[in-house]
Formats: sequence, structure tokens, C-alpha cells
Amino acid sequence: MSATPQTAILDNRFARELPEMAVAWQAEPAPVPRLLILNEPLAAELGLDPTWLRSPDGMGLLVGTAIPDGATPVAQAYSGHQFGGFVPRLGDGRALLLGEFSGPGGRERDLHLKGSGRTPFARGGDGLAVVGPMLREYLVSEAMHALGIPTTRSLAVVATGRAVARETRLPGAVLARVAGSHLRVGSFEYAAQYCRAADDLDLLRRLADHAIDRHHPDAAAAENRYLALYQAVITVQARLLAQWMLVGFVHGVMNTDNMTISGETIDYGPCAFMDSYHPATVFSSIDHGGRYAYGNQPAVAQWNLARFGETLLPLIADDDQEAVALATESLGRFGGQFDDAWLAGMRTKLGLASDIDVTTIRPLFDDLLTLLQQNSFDYTTTFRHLAQVLRGTDRPLPAGIDAWLPRWRALHPDPEAMDRVNPLYIPRNHLVEEALAAATDGDLQPLQQLADILAAPYDERAGLDRYAAPAPPEFGHYRTFCGT
Ligand code: AMP
Ligand code: MG
Repeated sequence: MSATPQTAILDNRFARELPEMAVAWQAEPAPVPRLLILNEPLAAELGLDPTWLRSPDGMGLLVGTAIPDGATPVAQAYSGHQFGGFVPRLGDGRALLLGEFSGPGGRERDLHLKGSGRTPFARGGDGLAVVGPMLREYLVSEAMHALGIPTTRSLAVVATGRAVARETRLPGAVLARVAGSHLRVGSFEYAAQYCRAADDLDLLRRLADHAIDRHHPDAAAAENRYLALYQAVITVQARLLAQWMLVGFVHGVMNTDNMTISGETIDYGPCAFMDSYHPATVFSSIDHGGRYAYGNQPAVAQWNLARFGETLLPLIADDDQEAVALATESLGRFGGQFDDAWLAGMRTKLGLASDIDVTTIRPLFDDLLTLLQQNSFDYTTTFRHLAQVLRGTDRPLPAGIDAWLPRWRALHPDPEAMDRVNPLYIPRNHLVEEALAAATDGDLQPLQQLADILAAPYDERAGLDRYAAPAPPEFGHYRTFCGT
């Protein structure tokens, strides 16, 4: 395939630097490709012309069949703890890393496909993905981005024209995803295992150096660069988890292969936004024990980071006990870092000045959440409603909250500041389902409209009331499904 000037910029750095973790592979052809949605602002950021991306050559890139010269598409190897159990060989069973863009300011970003066919890591899977779930990842990841939360981005979803066998036959699709990288905790688990078998730390060291260079360059100057890498990942994950909790996001499948080294949210499978507030909220149909329930997420992240730390031990210190002590001390800081980020976020959500000491007002936050839980208030709308209460609108107050209000008002909250950080429009499950059902039936208008609304989550717009409202009761409890 001849490279166009636009696509000639894909590097193959991962494949070159970490060949033990990369299997060169090709995407399956898409019989009748049809572009369902394209992220034009993101395309422009990457230096890709949207008009070209809509052309047959451009769509060839988006489904992985027209690869620019010099790029080496690979399936990446990784391991992972899935629901607590170690799986030594996972890897990209239905995905390919096409290569890296070197963007403005030297910022490198992966271009990656999901649903591009079986790879040597496919095990029993068919290597394919379905229109609905790929559009779901597109909508939710872009909504997260608009909310200011670090995440992989979605460039496009292309329907392949191939039917995919699930419970019924469903239309197939490929998602083109962009990320700081696709390095996961599971990547380190894979390298650590490889190095134990080889009795040689070279691969692990190369992977850690690659991660430092791409994501945590300050660690390179530290006295103990691998300990500094560990601490940097702990910090970005503590902040990420606080952001998830503050918007009511439930990831749903926080296996170590779905946790990045960059601190970006990755792998939107059974994720969903919580409606009425409850820490035990679970959406995933396979999470029977509630391991990945909303309220458990910070603890699970810390558990995953412990698995990450274990992989780094031989790099952190020659002496095992010393390495364990250093890593344990670092991991112990996760809780405090999470709390700091969460408390500061709650202070902002409640419109309070930044010089208010959050530790002294923590009970105010906790009591509000208890009230939300006792009364099953919708988490997202509550914060917009509270700002309205300050403005003196005569909307009825949620019952039970009147005793809490004076304590909060005494701190002089600012309703305008609240509206700048509390979203009105989030990817509510019933809205997402509605848009996906229409798109699956060939009507792309509701999908595009929802994507456009979610791109500006804080700005109230006329005529969009139903997009800001919780699901109607008849929508019932929502269930999500993995790996489809
Ligand atoms: P996920 O639940 O999407 O994070 O995927 C977990 C693992 O299952 C990864 O190794 C995926 O590549 C693999 N996988 C998920 N769905 C499929 C599929 N349809 N075909 C092949 N591999 C899959
Ligand atoms: Mg995954």
C-alpha cells in the first residue's frame, strides 16, 4: 500500500523496542466498510485530514487494511489478573497496534484498532467486535475526555459489513482508538514472567525505560528511576480514580490488563455512569461478587498497583527485602493521594473556596453522600440542583437534605463555580442504548447528536432537558456485558 503523506508518520517504536512483546500481524479485510462516526477534532490534532479519512484509502487505515509504509502493525502481548486470578497469556486477541503518531510537541500517541480480526492471542475468540459496543466505547470515552478525565480517545468506528455471531448475528465494526500508549499493568506482568523464565531482567528494564520515556520522564532523573516510575504511576492512578469517583463512573472490569501505566482510562466494556447514588452499584453482568462495584474501585486500583509493584521489585533493589520495603512504602501513599484529589474535587463540586481546609469539612461531604444513598438521589443531577437551591429557585428541595443545607451554605458556596464543574450531560445508559439501537438499525443521527451534546457537558442548552434527566423508572436496572 502506498503511503499517503498523512499516514507516513506512523512509527513502529513499540515493535522495535519491545519485540518480545509484539507479534507482527495483519487486520482482516472489511468486506463493505462504512464509516459510522468520525472524530474530526481528534483527526485534526493528529494531522489527519477528515476528508481523506472518509475516502476508501482513509477507511483502509481505520480498519487496518491499508497500512502506511514503515508501519509495523502488531498484536501486543500482556498478562493480567482477571477478577483476582492470574492469566499468564492474554494479549491483543482482537486488536492491533498500528503504530505511533508523533504529534505536536513530540507527544507520541498510539493508533490502535479493536475488532480487526483474530490474532495469535485470540484463544477461543473470533477476533471481532460488534457495532453497538464499539460505538459505546466511542461515546463513553469521548464523554470522559470532555469531562477532563484522562482516557484513551476514539477516532472512528467503521462498520465492516461482516456479520458477527453472538447470541444473534450482529453487524461487525472496528474501533480506531488513540492513546498515550497501550502499556498496562498486565504488560509488566508479562515482562516480569518472561524475565523470570529467562533469568534475565533485560526485557523488564527495557519496558520500564520505554514507559518512563513515554509517560513519566521525570523519573529518569531520580536516584532510583524504577521506584520513581512506580510512584509516578501510583500518583496518576490515584488522581484518575478520584476523577472516576467524582463523576460517578463505574469501570466495571478493572483487571490489571485494563489498567494503564499512563494513567488513562482504558477498555470501555461493561462501564456505566451511576444514576442513583450507592457505593454497591454494579452494572456488569459477570461481576457477581461486586468486586468492581463503584465504591470498591479505589481499593481495587491499589490492589492492581500492588501487582504492578511486584513486577518492578527486581529493578527497584538487588536486595529483595529492601525492594519490598521501598515498594510497600510507596504504595502506602496511594490512599492519601486519592483522598487529597477526591476531597479537592468535592470541594470544587460543592462550590467552596480553595482556601477551605478540606480535611475539616470531610464530614460535610460524607453526610451528603449518606443522604444521597438513603434517598436514592441521582448523583449527577444533585450537584446542579444544589446550585439552583443557592440561586433561590423554587424547585422543591430533595427531602431529607434541609438539615444538611445550612452547614454547607455557611461556607458561602458559589453556584456559578459549581456549574462549571458539575456536568449536566453524561452518557446516561438509556440515552446511549437509544443511540446505539438507532445506529445498529442504520439511523446515525441520534448517535451524532448524543456525541455532540456530550462534547460540552457543562453548558446548559435549550431543548435538551431529556438529555440531562435520569432514566425513566421503566428503564429498570441496567446490565452491561463484557467483551462483545
Ligand atoms: P477485554 O475484556 O476487552 O479487556 O479483553 C480481555 C481479553 O480477551 C483480551 O486479551 C482480549 O484481546 C480478549 N478478547 C476479548 N474479546 C475477544 C474476541 N472476540 N476475540 C478474541 N479475543 C478477545
Ligand atoms: Mg482489555
